[in-house]
Amino acid sequence: MNEEKKIDICGLELNEFESLIEEMGEKAFRARQIYGWVFNAGVRDFAGMTDIPSQLRARLAVRFSAETCRVERKSVAGDKMAVKYALSLADGNVIEAVKIYDSEKLDKYTVCVSTQVGCPVNCAFCQTAKMGFIRNLSAAEITGQVLAAAFDAEGSAEGLSNVVYMGMGEPLLNYDNVVKSVKIINCPKAFNVSMRKITVSTAGVAPMIKKLMNENMPITLALSLHAPADALRDKLVPLNRKYNIKCLMDAVKTYARTTGRRVTIEYVLIDNVNDKKSDAVKLAELLKNTLCHVNLIPMNKTEGGFSAPLKSKISEFKNILVRSGINATVRSSRGQDINAACGMLYREMKRARADGENI
Ligand code: SAH
Repeated sequence: MNEEKKIDICGLELNEFESLIEEMGEKAFRARQIYGWVFNAGVRDFAGMTDIPSQLRARLAVRFSAETCRVERKSVAGDKMAVKYALSLADGNVIEAVKIYDSEKLDKYTVCVSTQVGCPVNCAFCQTAKMGFIRNLSAAEITGQVLAAAFDAEGSAEGLSNVVYMGMGEPLLNYDNVVKSVKIINCPKAFNVSMRKITVSTAGVAPMIKKLMNENMPITLALSLHAPADALRDKLVPLNRKYNIKCLMDAVKTYARTTGRRVTIEYVLIDNVNDKKSDAVKLAELLKNTLCHVNLIPMNKTEGGFSAPLKSKISEFKNILVRSGINATVRSSRGQDINAACGMLYREMKRARADGENI
């Protein structure tokens, strides 16, 4: 079949879409109408766009689509506070996205998106690393995850408050598509999520942190630090051999100073690995005078044999930071019973497939 590949609307910024619509001899406002159907009403089939002339609907269907991510499987946490989606892509690859409800405002939720199929960074404790790297996601495959999660069940995206780039993959190794997807998610005619409520998390690609700083997008940057010194970080996050802690702290400080935005420092607490009192003291020393907030994440158990420290050890670690004047909180882990952590859904899917389960 000699069918030209359709362009997914979810990967087009509004001005790009307007130009394409004008190239078809149509008025630009049609692009805004269609954008609204896709992003605000979750309608992906042109036949359902009732205020578009039927002839144009037919022409659109030849050229465009909005169906990049299809829900293949979903699981809802026991407390219903998180929903995890396995989404299938056109080439058969499967990625994951998670919808997490706000524990205080139950009508608000965050969507956590993936940026790559697999990941090349190979963090020692991360489940996605076990997949290896398969490919980058397109901008449409990133915004498509928000669409799939937002319009699941309720049939309305209402309540979408935050988007975090903390699923599978390393966002800053898929820079252009990530930046484009951020702009689309932020667009008032699309999801209209404020830049401040979009978080991009990185394992530490220092030059790309500086590039991101110059995009003029007031998003939140999160750095996955996980260790206060190079010897340990080299083992946990091998990318550290390329961009070490000094180089990353330089990038983070410059980012915070230039953008005025507080950087989130993520620190996965792993029992007997990076949770000593002396680690907390070193971390406090490293972060002093930096505009940041430390997010302590108790390790989600994976295949690697690592586990979370006892609760008492976690609060002790936090208290050392706080007493040293470092802003720190422990992340409440929702969705643990559905393995909502990075790469964990993939493991479950593989297991189910191996067991012959039809998913
Ligand atoms: N590659 C990016 C974003 C994806 S991972 C990054 O490294 O920041 C999002 C966060 O989840 C990272 O801080 C990562 O280190 C953390 N993470 C990965 N596996 C985890 C696990 N098993 N338990 C808790 N956090 C984990």
